[in-house]
Amino acid sequence: MPELRKDPIMGRWVIVASERETRPTDFKFPTDPTNEDLSKCPFCPGNEQQTPHEILAYHQPGRHPNTKGWWVRVVPNKYPALRIESDPARRGEGMYDCMGGFGAHEVIVETPEHNILWGDMEEKSLRDVIWAYRDRVLELKKDPRIRYVLIFKNHGRAAGATMSHPHSQLIALPMVPIRVSQEMAGAKAYYDYKERCVFCDIAREEIAAAKRLIGQNQHFIAVEPYASRFPFETWIVPVQHSCHFEAINEKEADSLAALLKQSLKKLSSQLHNPPFNMTIHSTPISEHGSPHYHWHIEIMPKLTHVAGFESGSGFYINPTPPETAAQLLNRH
Ligand code: ZN
Ligand code: ZN
Repeated sequence: MPELRKDPIMGRWVIVASERETRPTDFKFPTDPTNEDLSKCPFCPGNEQQTPHEILAYHQPGRHPNTKGWWVRVVPNKYPALRIESDPARRGEGMYDCMGGFGAHEVIVETPEHNILWGDMEEKSLRDVIWAYRDRVLELKKDPRIRYVLIFKNHGRAAGATMSHPHSQLIALPMVPIRVSQEMAGAKAYYDYKERCVFCDIAREEIAAAKRLIGQNQHFIAVEPYASRFPFETWIVPVQHSCHFEAINEKEADSLAALLKQSLKKLSSQLHNPPFNMTIHSTPISEHGSPHYHWHIEIMPKLTHVAGFESGSGFYINPTPPETAAQLLNRH
């Protein structure tokens, strides 16, 4: 059983999940898309029996669960980092704090197509993926033990993906992750000083400066952040103040799909389908809206290795200024 342990110095929780070592991977051999045996991919249509029972599927009418005929499918992770049946009670172990590895770990299979990139997917398909994220957060929100739902995507082996079929993941947690609480604390301090939301200010500033923007529509901007940690780091930020991702409406989901597709297309063509991590940061589901925190998406292409200096200091060395990255991405 996994366990959550708290670092008594930083207050950071760590998931200790030894069984995940035994996970299979379909990246054992260099991936040659023409040569892959799709009958072995548990996310391909026809192989639904190879995954745990589905939690959600958008599908054709009359389809039986766990058969083909779906276009988005959500299943529990077969090798979960956390489990819903674990006990979330906190306990002490000498001076330390720990708790059972309580949480949910789900996989969102984004499309029946085994070989397709976000930049090449139909806007409508991407919209359905966004809608599945929303539906799952709204459902998990009903469990009062869950305080945060982190949605993320690892694309490419170097970014930590073990399966090549397009998918994203969700981990529901009994606490707020430290990265989010640090961002919230920073945003709160900015708000207390200026009485404005820092993310609303960033959106206004970036639209006016237009030096780091790589896309914009009615509801969102895509921007290379001023202090990007990584080359071609890209954020997608709602233009209007919005605390919770799951409050997104249909029109906004359409806009988000369009901008995600456009941004990923630019990254993919400029950087030749780079491995990347994507994550959605949002106000914790256990909290009401606040005037200072604003949900957003962070996309981090994995082009450099985080090395000793970065992991030892929390500093990042970024060899590509975000202004240069934006210029390159906007070339086509
Ligand atoms: Zn597949
Ligand atoms: Zn805001």
